[in-house]
Amino acid sequence: MFDIFGDERGNKKKRTLTTAQLKDFKAAVGKCEICGKKFSVSVLQHHHIVPKEKGGSDNLLTNVLVVCGTCHDMAHKGFYKQKELREKIKKRSKKVVEQIKAIEGRRRSLRKKKKGDSHTGFGLDVPSIDIPDPFAPPKKGRGKKKKRNDDWFGF
Ligand SMILES: [Zn+2]
Ligand SMILES: [Zn+2]
Repeated sequence: MFDIFGDERGNKKKRTLTTAQLKDFKAAVGKCEICGKKFSVSVLQHHHIVPKEKGGSDNLLTNVLVVCGTCHDMAHKGFYKQKELREKIKKRSKKVVEQIKAIEGRRRSLRKKKKGDSHTGFGLDVPSIDIPDPFAPPKKGRGKKKKRNDDWFGF
């Protein structure tokens, strides 16, 4: 099977949007912008109207749509013209646009804050992924183990 969602999975190095920003973006829109149906954030996906490999930007206000899996699939199969998809972006309500602007603004201020840190432009937008710590103790409150922490390698 070919990778129809390659624009979201294959380009991790190039991605400048953080996972948190995308999540907030989806939450702000709250629905598929193509079919208009409401979905939860975990189900919603994002789609670049102009693919990044063709020079498309990460700008949430101009090039990125929130879509459901079905519409995303169709978009990649060429069911919609880029012009049509751009029309969908224009239909966003003022309130949604304001929220998206705030998310975009966060990205800019993030960069500003980090200036001097690195001027390469790389490594500033590391996606923050909410992975539960696999090494975290399963439960707290089991004080018994804590005492013997230093004995881990104490042979
Ligand atoms: Zn849809
Ligand atoms: Zn896509």
